[in-house]
Amino acid sequence: MMRVTLWGTRGSLATPGAETARYGGNTSCVEVRGADGTVLILDAGTGIRRLAASLPPSLRRVDVLLTHLHMDHIQGLGFFPPLYDPEIEVHVWGPASTTLGLRARLMRYLSPPLFPVNLRDLPCRLTLHEVPCGDFDLGMFRVSSALVCHPGPTVGYRIAAGGEVLSYLPDHEPALGVRRFPHEAEWTSGYALASGVDLLLHDAQYDHHEYPERVGWGHSAFEHAFAFAALAEVRRFVPIHHDPAHDDHEIDRLIAEAVSTINPPFAVIPGTEGAVFEVGPSAR
Ligand SMILES: [Zn+2]
Ligand SMILES: [Zn+2]
Repeated sequence: MMRVTLWGTRGSLATPGAETARYGGNTSCVEVRGADGTVLILDAGTGIRRLAASLPPSLRRVDVLLTHLHMDHIQGLGFFPPLYDPEIEVHVWGPASTTLGLRARLMRYLSPPLFPVNLRDLPCRLTLHEVPCGDFDLGMFRVSSALVCHPGPTVGYRIAAGGEVLSYLPDHEPALGVRRFPHEAEWTSGYALASGVDLLLHDAQYDHHEYPERVGWGHSAFEHAFAFAALAEVRRFVPIHHDPAHDDHEIDRLIAEAVSTINPPFAVIPGTEGAVFEVGPSAR
């Protein structure tokens, strides 16, 4: 059994307010919990604060899997209480750059003047791991990572438990540089991570008016996200990384419009903060 909770679904910048309360204002953070008690945290956006409050006091190890180091995916790290607990083993997984290791890249944020505490002074038992690094096992989960199309080194994740599979691609522009999208599956960024999954959490930041002004910014228009999900033959698609400029009504409208024009062969479930999913078997 794999239970997935969305703690932060907003892209780019935390966007609190009455007009965004339903889809949520917190930035990228998703909890994946296994029947064996394993806890994986996908990205450490501002949603991680409320997630942390829900963790069992008996927890002794937690793995934080970062897709990349843009601020909306790491801002919550400094406010994650397990980092200050000497009894807890914290493993942080994330990409290095061509010139800096993961530790040096995280220290850019976790050091003054941006943050009062230095990474090396954190009391928890901290281990850093660089991705992509081939498949690895965390408790009952098998995790795969691969570089995907987004500015700077960025990975997506595929997480499997037995036949149950989830794919997480919050910042992804697979349509970049492609004349007609989608094109051949094996040449499509992120395809292997999402192929046949039961649940795809994917970037759907822009509408089709906004995207042409933002080509190369690393995000998907709704139509591209839907086309990607269809190509990958997913069972359920959850649009996330909502644009800060889109309020709840606008996101409702964009999803309804995309569903009625595209008539997708998969279920579309709006990515609202607090939503919980049980992941089922993959299609293949
Ligand atoms: Zn982002
Ligand atoms: Zn990003």
